[in-house]
Amino acid sequence: MATLGNPTNTIAVLQKYQFTFQKKYGQNFLIDTHILEKIIRESGITENDLVLEIGPGIGTMTQYLAENAREVVAVEIDKNLIPILNDTLSAYDNVTVLNEDILKVDVFKIAEERNQGKPIKVVANLPYYITTPIIMGLFESHVPLESITIMVQKEVADRMQVGPGTKDYGALSLAVQYYAKPEIVANVPPGCFMPRPKVGSAVIKLSRYENPPVSVKNEAFLFALIRASFNQRRKTLVNGLANGDLNITKEQIIEALDKMKLPPAIRGEALTLEQFAKLSNILYS
Ligand code: SAM
Repeated sequence: MATLGNPTNTIAVLQKYQFTFQKKYGQNFLIDTHILEKIIRESGITENDLVLEIGPGIGTMTQYLAENAREVVAVEIDKNLIPILNDTLSAYDNVTVLNEDILKVDVFKIAEERNQGKPIKVVANLPYYITTPIIMGLFESHVPLESITIMVQKEVADRMQVGPGTKDYGALSLAVQYYAKPEIVANVPPGCFMPRPKVGSAVIKLSRYENPPVSVKNEAFLFALIRASFNQRRKTLVNGLANGDLNITKEQIIEALDKMKLPPAIRGEALTLEQFAKLSNILYS
């Protein structure tokens, strides 16, 4: 099977199977070999690795992964792609395709059974409509994970990487940076996909920390605090938190901010992860 990462071969496969794109599944297939090679390089996969691919599509990147990893598990929701994948991946005996919804797959079990519980690597050109639940699901379930190298919407990649004082900074930035070191490794224009998406894309590598960079008494409380702080962006932190369902009063928040030498009118978007961690430790009881 010739490499699929170009328009001619992709069109040939799509025509052979009379495949029609399903918009609801965020199907934009990669047709650029340079980008594919770059993703493989940046993901740092070796012949010792178990790689989880989310949404293999017609198997374009899966072929590269199979060439470089020990084993690949590829989870694809669209049943119409399964016969295509059986064909395009027939030369590889180290790939397992699961016809499932990634949000319902027990990734922990896959790591346990196929990688003796050792950290796996995730590599994917993600369906953009569920980027955040996929990433947060992987982190929050504490699946043994070394890194996640993914194609996402450019704007979402920016949100994951920035710090306080920028318009893109928010709950996603803090959640990602609690678990991993983010690094945008490539910007990818719409012309590298078929069909072309309406937005620009970027490849971001999230390298999982062994231990989070801050320590908190209760992780769930930290994230509830962060979410409440950004729910009402234009409000001060005090009003945002007091209006949430965290059961804390304005007075308690002002007192906590005072302990941290922060002004009572400060907004959530001005706080670093360290400051959110400190605030959560003061308020958690
Ligand atoms: N990896 C291929 C490529 O790079 O050419 C396809 C990437 S395309 C952006 C996203 C893929 O994810 C599609 O094949 C789509 O059907 C699949 N997908 C969408 N939602 C999914 C879900 N919930 N679980 C698993 N796969 C999903």
